Amino acid sequence: MFSIDWKSIYDNTLPMNVLVSRCLIGEPCRWHGRKLSASSFVKRWVHEHPRDTLVPVCPELLAGLGCPRPPVKRSRGRVYTTCADKALRAQVTGDDVTDAFISGAASTVAIALERRCTLAILCKWSPSCDKTGIAGKMLAGVGIEIVNTF
Ligand code: SF4
Repeated sequence: MFSIDWKSIYDNTLPMNVLVSRCLIGEPCRWHGRKLSASSFVKRWVHEHPRDTLVPVCPELLAGLGCPRPPVKRSRGRVYTTCADKALRAQVTGDDVTDAFISGAASTVAIALERRCTLAILCKWSPSCDKTGIAGKMLAGVGIEIVNTF
């Protein structure tokens, strides 16, 4: 599933602070509030880079959106709450929560810079954490390398 040879890119003799999406370490911070297994990629990273320090963040919790919270969908650069029922998600457009997402992303970048993170392991497909998500794009914008996984 992962074809990149990270060992050849990052010298694991130099410890790094690595920002990581909190849900990827198994924290129940996703919109539905259910606990999921920790990412096998992150588990492998920790095993192969024992001197690195993970800095877990959840941009949506930092935004004060709470947990559980309504699911959202992105549309034309904005983020809207939507219906938890998958069958209705495409039709339902609720509140515009874009500003909250931007606020959570800005807090995430502030933490990354304060902790001098040079790499962020972020959750794929998330409207915040995907590399095309609001926080993902902001982190990349300040020069932080993004690894998108789940
Ligand atoms: S993907 Fe990001 S915003 Fe969503 S629950 Fe995980 S850490 Fe929080």
